[in-house]
Amino acid sequence: QANVGKAQEAKKQTKLGIETPKGVNYSDWYSQVITKAEMIEYYDVSGCYVLRPWSYAIWEKIQEFFDREIKKLGVKNCYFPMFVSHAALEREKTHIADFAPEVAWVTRAGNSEMAEPIAIRPTSETVMYPSFAKWVQSHRDLPIKVNQWCNVVRWEFKHPTPFLRTREFLWQEGHTAFQTRAEAEEEVFKILDLYAQIYTDLLAIPVVKGRKSEKEKFAGGDFTTTVEAYVAVNGRGIQGATSHHLGQNFSKMFEIIFEDPENPGQKVYAHQNSWGLSTRTIGAMVMIHGDDNGLVLPPKVAAVQMIVIPVGITANTSDEQRVQLLAKVKEITDVLVNAGIRAESDVRDNVSPGWKFNHWELKGVPVRIEVGPKDLAKNEVLTVQRFSGQKRGIPIPNIVDESKKLLEDIHKDMYNKQVEVRDAHLKLCLDWKDFVALLDGKNLLLSPFCGLPECEEKIKADSAREEPGEAGTSAMGAKSLCIPLEQPKHELPERCIHPPCKEKAKFFALFGRSY
Ligand code: AMP
Repeated sequence: QANVGKAQEAKKQTKLGIETPKGVNYSDWYSQVITKAEMIEYYDVSGCYVLRPWSYAIWEKIQEFFDREIKKLGVKNCYFPMFVSHAALEREKTHIADFAPEVAWVTRAGNSEMAEPIAIRPTSETVMYPSFAKWVQSHRDLPIKVNQWCNVVRWEFKHPTPFLRTREFLWQEGHTAFQTRAEAEEEVFKILDLYAQIYTDLLAIPVVKGRKSEKEKFAGGDFTTTVEAYVAVNGRGIQGATSHHLGQNFSKMFEIIFEDPENPGQKVYAHQNSWGLSTRTIGAMVMIHGDDNGLVLPPKVAAVQMIVIPVGITANTSDEQRVQLLAKVKEITDVLVNAGIRAESDVRDNVSPGWKFNHWELKGVPVRIEVGPKDLAKNEVLTVQRFSGQKRGIPIPNIVDESKKLLEDIHKDMYNKQVEVRDAHLKLCLDWKDFVALLDGKNLLLSPFCGLPECEEKIKADSAREEPGEAGTSAMGAKSLCIPLEQPKHELPERCIHPPCKEKAKFFALFGRSY
């Protein structure tokens, strides 16, 4: 305890800890967390950031899961170039119209101007589909199911935020082509389920699965499905990942075509999907779970799940006792590692245990294990949970089973807490009069909606407040985050939520201010 007190003093003096509470200024808090937890290093190109090992490890865990799952669906990894010719990029008009403002171009090589500037991929539909056209000669060449793990560049003009909105980001993009629409549609929803699983099962974040409105769908596609999460601190929704059914729009432009096996001589265009999940996942995780003491990592994605720290070494501790204690720390760590738990020990002798507690707390390690002479005398260790602060003694002989259970329980507790927080801010709003006040109360709203883009524009304009909000955000208008696949039990009202709109409501849509 004395050590902890001293360390907290030291933390304040040396500015080691988080200085701005999350509730006071979340954007300050966020930059402190991601830098002090050693996730991000800032970089001198605006909107680009260094992903340090502590955050990259989370990406690797997500990759491991998703890569394994898509391979089960028959998807194979590949790699296409990051450059796109002007001609290819322009082939699908609606697509390029949407992406054009954000496309970065290479215009010069060394000192000479390029004869024809080339674009850097903002997404790879136009990069890949000329090859798809070559690969598909007959229905026997279908389906094509490829994925690549890569970077893309979107020169966004909205305020950049590490992970959440960056100009270069890492993602996976899956691209598939099928003989029938039914096969393609089935896959869109299978992928959506995997995306939902990444959030719920790995990141301990609940999501709403839904379809995007016409206004928000992927440019050039037929329909877009999405998983949407809720960020409590600012009441905003965040698009977690998208799985698009492209229909035959791209196959028509790129001539991905085969002869109908049922009607010889008749040409059919392939039915396509594309789906992507980016490093934004990491930002959502930080925003949603982090607290005033720093990062809180869900156990499934933590690079280090348990940190083992020797405690209770004093001036009176003999060399022999110290050696014994450190040997025990090593033994316990080895046992955990051999059981498949990502455990490490921190046996540095130039910093105090209290300093280490703060350090690993800031970095969000789910469980700290304290190994001290008193606990050892009882053949126990003390576990301290990052998420809840709960302390629990564990008998050393049960350490593997108890640790596994502890990590599972922490995941469940973190998830359940977020479900509770999210559900408390998910409001049915049936009257426009309540709409803006409910948004201001940091809620996401389920409202009857006609689904028309013009109406959505108006809802956005009429729900924006005049006074500027913090970092230009809290005053922003609402957009439809999705049309939830699972609709509210409530009977759908006759009319769309927005009074001037004379259209019938087609469904409940989830509205919110969003990232
Ligand atoms: P899209 O191709 O626009 O459907 O985006 C695919 C995924 O990438 C979405 O799920 C977004 O959450 C994510 N994403 C889009 N833009 C960015 C960005 N600037 N930074 C990080 N992630 C992004």
